[in-house]
Amino acid sequence: MPQNTLTPDYHFLEQVETTGPFQASACYQCRKCTNGCPVTFAMDIYPDAVIRLVILGQRQAVLGCETIWVCAACETCSTRCPNNVKIAELMDCLKEMAVQAGVPSPQPQILALHASFLKNVKRWGRVFETIFLPEYFLRSGELLRKWQTGTWRAEMRLSWQMTRKKRFPMFPKTIKGKNEVRKILARRKQK
Ligand code: SF4
Ligand code: SF4
Repeated sequence: MPQNTLTPDYHFLEQVETTGPFQASACYQCRKCTNGCPVTFAMDIYPDAVIRLVILGQRQAVLGCETIWVCAACETCSTRCPNNVKIAELMDCLKEMAVQAGVPSPQPQILALHASFLKNVKRWGRVFETIFLPEYFLRSGELLRKWQTGTWRAEMRLSWQMTRKKRFPMFPKTIKGKNEVRKILARRKQK
């Protein structure tokens, strides 16, 4: 008997659309999204196929794929879609679902960037570069790698140049709606 590789999770699409709505069901597979995407060379599943897999309830394949992590959120796909499928936003939602479900990211450095970014935004409502970059370097293991390869010296020189150009301020700037942003982010589990 042939092995059935499509074991659908019938709640997956509904769960995704409750978070959105992203209108994934409106997709008729024209591939305009994929044809305009600038980072397909780094993807394991093309954007139109991600939408198809969501519709087919392929939770594991979608949450474990590289595509949701390498998506640059440029919105080209959403702009080109004739059916107003919110593809870029959907990619972001799937990334967050993968984090919450504890699915290991095939791109751990991007996951480290994602986590550092959200932590900054939760704290100050925006990124505070002076903390954000060191935090990312620590989380991702880049700090150790730079130390071992000796490239930390170049990094220090660059940091100094950026400090002189006031790109690394001493104190963080916050935004007016900081508390609202915190409430939104408080709904997610900390990673
Ligand atoms: S452009 Fe829109 S309708 Fe076409 S494949 Fe992509 S998501 Fe589907
Ligand atoms: S938002 Fe992501 S999937 Fe869409 S075109 Fe940009 S990189 Fe590609």
